[in-house]
Amino acid sequence: MNQEQVFAWDHAYYMPVFARYPIVLSHGEGPYVYDTEGKKYLDFLAGIAVNILGHAHPALVRAVSEQAAKMIHCSNLYYTEAQATLARSLATLSGLGKVFIANSGAEANEGAIKLARKYAKAIHPDKVEIITAEHCFHGRTLATITATAQPKYQAGYEPLPGGFKYVAYNDIAALQAVMSAKTCAVMLEPIQGEGGIHVPDPGYLGQVRQLCDQYGALLIFDEIQSGMGRTGKMFAYEHENVVPDIATLAKGLGGGVPIGAFMAADKVAAAFKPGDHGTTFGGNPLASAAANAVLKTMQEEKILANVTAVGNYMVKQLNGLKDAYPALITKVRGKGLMLGMQLSRPGREIVQTCMERGLIINCTAGDVLRFVPPLIITREHVDEMVAVLDSVLAGAVKQ
Ligand SMILES: *Cc1c(COP(=O)(O)O)cnc(C)c1O
Repeated sequence: MNQEQVFAWDHAYYMPVFARYPIVLSHGEGPYVYDTEGKKYLDFLAGIAVNILGHAHPALVRAVSEQAAKMIHCSNLYYTEAQATLARSLATLSGLGKVFIANSGAEANEGAIKLARKYAKAIHPDKVEIITAEHCFHGRTLATITATAQPKYQAGYEPLPGGFKYVAYNDIAALQAVMSAKTCAVMLEPIQGEGGIHVPDPGYLGQVRQLCDQYGALLIFDEIQSGMGRTGKMFAYEHENVVPDIATLAKGLGGGVPIGAFMAADKVAAAFKPGDHGTTFGGNPLASAAANAVLKTMQEEKILANVTAVGNYMVKQLNGLKDAYPALITKVRGKGLMLGMQLSRPGREIVQTCMERGLIINCTAGDVLRFVPPLIITREHVDEMVAVLDSVLAGAVKQ
C-alpha cells in the first residue's frame, strides 16, 4: 500500500479528530522510526512519552511474543501470574499498597476519581469536590475532561459531571481558598505535561500535601506522563519526597502496549468492595507481561541513571540554543527527559520542518516544543537532535 492510499483511506474512514502529519510510519528500532517511503527519523517524541525503551526493544518484543503465544486474555474472573507480578511491582515501587490495572491513562484517572469519591462519601455524603489545576490534562472521558481544566477539551460535551473546581497551578494560596470539609481530593500532575511542561516551585507539592491532610482530602498525583522514570525517578513526586494517597500511571508503563494503572494506600483502596469497579481487558496477561518486561529492563539497563545524566546534558544543550536564539526561545523547562522549550511564537511550523529533516518532536500548548524521547537515548542522540533543531531554528529566525 503506498502512502497516498493510506492518506485516502484515513480521510475517507477515520473520524476526523486528529491533525496528523503527512507521513506513514511503518517500523522502528531504538530511538529511530522509518516511514513507508524509507525515510529515517530520530524520534524525540516516543509516541508521546510512551516508547520508553525505544522501538522494538528485544526484551519487550520477546516478552510480548512469548506471552501472546501462551495467552493474550482471560478476563479478570481468573488470576494470572503476569498480573499478580505487575501488581506487586507497582505496589512496591510506589509504596502504595494496592493496585488496579486499566487500559489507558484516562481510564486510570477515571478509576482514581471513582475511588476517591467512594472513600470520601463514606466520611460525609457532601465530601465530593475534586480540585484540579488550570492547564492540566487528565484524559478524554467525560469525568477526565471535566477534571481537565481547559475549555478546549470540554466545549460541546456539556452537561459535564458535577463536583469539580479549578485553581491556578503552583499557587498554594489559591488552593487554600477553595479547600473545605467538602474537598474529596486534589488531583495534580507533579509536572504538567500537555499544558506546556510546567514544573512547580520546590515545596509546592509538600504544601498541597499539608492542606490535604488538614482538610482530610485525598491527594491524587497523575504520573501518567511524568512517571515511569521520565524525570529520573520512577515517580516525579519522589523529587519532592511527597507521597500521594493515589497515583496513576499509563503512557510508558507498557513500553507501547496499551495499559494504565492506579495505586492507592491500603486504607483508601479498602473503600472498593467486590463489584465496585471493573474492566474486561484491564491487566490482561499480554499487557501485564509487557509492563513486567519494561520494569525489569529499566532495572537491568539502569534507565533512571541514564535519564538523569542524559537529561542534564540535554538541558545544557537546549539552553545553548536558547542563548543562540534569544528572540525565538524564552525558556527551557522540565526535569530528566521531560523537557520543554518555550517559544515566542507558535511551534507547529518548526515541528513540521524538523520532521522534514528527519527529527520527530512535538509542540504542546501551541508554543512549547516538547521533548519526551525514549529513556534509552545517549548524549550522541541529543547531539544529533540539537544539530537538526539548530538548523531549523536558524531558518526560522530569518523569516
Ligand atoms: C496522556 C495523559 C493522560 C491520558 O492518557 P490516555 O492514555 O491518552 O487516556 C492523562 N494524564 C496525563 C498527565 C497525560 O499526559
